[in-house]
Amino acid sequence: MKMLRYALVAAAVVGAPSLLLSTPAAAADKVCKLEIAGNDQMQFDKKELSVAADCTQVQLTLKHTGKLPKEAMGHNWVLVKAADLTAVANAGMTAGPANNYIQAGDKRVIAHTKTIGGGESDTITFPTSGLAGQSLMYLCTFPGHNALMRGTFKVG
Ligand code: ZN
Repeated sequence: MKMLRYALVAAAVVGAPSLLLSTPAAAADKVCKLEIAGNDQMQFDKKELSVAADCTQVQLTLKHTGKLPKEAMGHNWVLVKAADLTAVANAGMTAGPANNYIQAGDKRVIAHTKTIGGGESDTITFPTSGLAGQSLMYLCTFPGHNALMRGTFKVG
């Protein structure tokens, strides 16, 4: 019995320093980078995007690899819950180009880039808090694009 108690105390002391060291690391931001491209054929180059569960921030870059101007073949990247996709796309169409095809103050929009044309890019950073385990999708809200330009987004 005496031996066992001694062993437990020793283990606790050995374990303590690593606990202290790991706490600041866990509290710090982990920014995970993603890239996706849209082209003149009205397509994203990826059907799904995901980041690990320990990513606290996502830095996403949208590139337009085509040549057409944004008035003709504009692309944006908009993150929503899967259930909100159609409603957000319809609201975006009404909002028009001056609003990047996103309804002002639309709370269903979790994150979004601006609308870009050929040769342009846009980078955004957004937090992952509350997104793990959710059924999420991304889309382009340029009128008529979301039927082809959509994919799944996953945290964890
Ligand atoms: Zn588009």
